[in-house]
Amino acid sequence: MTTLDEARARVRACAGDELLDRLEYLDGGRSTGPRDDDSPAAPDRGAHADYDVALVGGGLSLLYAPALAAKGLRVAVFERGTAGATHREWNASGAELQALVRAGVLTDDERAGLVLARYRAGFCRWHNGGTYPVANVLDHAVDAGALLAIVRARAVAAGVSVFDHHALVGHAAGPDAIAMKLRTRDGVTKNVSARLMIDARGAASPSATADLVCPTVGGVLEGLAVGSAPDEIDPAVGEILVTTEGIEAGRQHIWEGFPARAGETTVYLFYYDRAGAVGDGSLLRLYARFFDTLPRYKRGDVRLVRPTFGYITGWSRLSPAPRAPSARVVLVGDAAARHSPLTYCGFGATLRSLGPATERIAQALHERTEAKLGPIVHDTALHAGTGALAHMIASPPQSPARAGELNTLLDAAFSTLHAMGDASFGALLRDEMPVRDFVQFLRVTSAKHPRVYPEVFRVLGAMGVSRWGAGIARAWLGAGP
Ligand SMILES: Cc1cc2nc3c(=O)[nH]c(=O)nc-3n(C[C@H](O)[C@H](O)[C@H](O)COP(=O)(O)OP(=O)(O)OC[C@H]3O[C@@H](n4cnc5c(N)ncnc54)[C@H](O)[C@@H]3O)c2cc1C
Repeated sequence: MTTLDEARARVRACAGDELLDRLEYLDGGRSTGPRDDDSPAAPDRGAHADYDVALVGGGLSLLYAPALAAKGLRVAVFERGTAGATHREWNASGAELQALVRAGVLTDDERAGLVLARYRAGFCRWHNGGTYPVANVLDHAVDAGALLAIVRARAVAAGVSVFDHHALVGHAAGPDAIAMKLRTRDGVTKNVSARLMIDARGAASPSATADLVCPTVGGVLEGLAVGSAPDEIDPAVGEILVTTEGIEAGRQHIWEGFPARAGETTVYLFYYDRAGAVGDGSLLRLYARFFDTLPRYKRGDVRLVRPTFGYITGWSRLSPAPRAPSARVVLVGDAAARHSPLTYCGFGATLRSLGPATERIAQALHERTEAKLGPIVHDTALHAGTGALAHMIASPPQSPARAGELNTLLDAAFSTLHAMGDASFGALLRDEMPVRDFVQFLRVTSAKHPRVYPEVFRVLGAMGVSRWGAGIARAWLGAGP
């Protein structure tokens, strides 16, 4: 059994101190709840703002910096670590990646050059169940580090001021601007102001109050055995969701395996959980499990080349939405948690929001109506239905006698999706399924697996079930017949 100290040492050995610090910061933030508790004085009416937009957090949402600067706005980025130095790899479909070109962030050649691998098909497989192939889902592996390096360079060239090692510790909104207090790595405090603050701190934002969370660890691996057996990796096939056992330690652990550069595979281990249930050290504990149980998933003489990890937020739509703390703050990315609570594809969701949200922010700042923006990122009617399913996966039965039940239910659900055809199956995983098809999917799955009814009531309660039903009805009506 790998101890926490051994897991920490293995991550540090290939990630270095900055990434280990990010992991421990994320783990620490979950136990105490991140806070902005060192606020500056709020700016007076008519106060001059240093910037139009302060983008706080330079992870995936760094994409907004060059896009906003291209609209003629004065933009600054404040990042606790190094802006654009991500500890992720990203997969998306080809159509989703085109948003980078449409938003003017990349040329089409650059977009194509960032695709490390494309796979022919992906599949989902639940322990002891069938294998369900699907096309055009997460089938392009993107070089995340190179993407953000280009984005950072493009932002700087467009006049964006980028401040590494500047952590936001507090903010206060006035009538015309928001003041922000930042602390540098050396403990120096700085105050700046902007007309609008974009909170892009991901799961580390105090506004990231979504009720679900997906702790995820793993990384780019070398040395996995190649072939088509279940414990081998086929470089032409993506493994979207795979389980190798039932509920253990109270959780349903799930693997993903995506072919990357030649000889490399990105492998993740994750579980769905309720946000309040995840405490200090969860990522490190999950890393220990990753090292211990990887041989159940794949064999080989494995070397961890680059670790990737994080908490991905998820909002079930059964509880209040994450909200900005003042009218001069907007939430994006994982802080807003408007992506699918079922697939947790925050990269794809950010790509969908990038163009429209940039337009809205720029227009509001040009018209001086930025304090009326409200939620700006893309949301989908379908989430009113999928959130409750994610809630159920996050709350599996705890009795050892029922350890295999969730896999059986998921197998019934995915066999239904597969039988609905590749277009419908892919549409659910890409967040594009019409609500009417989703209702059909629920109907067929529950007929196949009637034991799901008491489970739904056990997890959601009568109130949750009625909220879920009302949400689906609203989405159905809003989305048209
Ligand atoms: C391991 C992993 C793999 C993933 N793979 C995929 C995928 O293949 N496809 C997909 O669609 N989605 C994927 N996702 C989801 C996706 O990465 C996230 O949804 C996305 O990164 C969220 O972007 P963000 O900008 O909100 O936050 P992040 O990218 O997490 O960035 C947040 C940034 O804020 C900084 N920060 C934190 N606190 C402060 C502070 N106080 N002051 C200043 N800066 C601060 C952090 O250092 C960090 O750089 C994955 C997630 C994980 C964890």
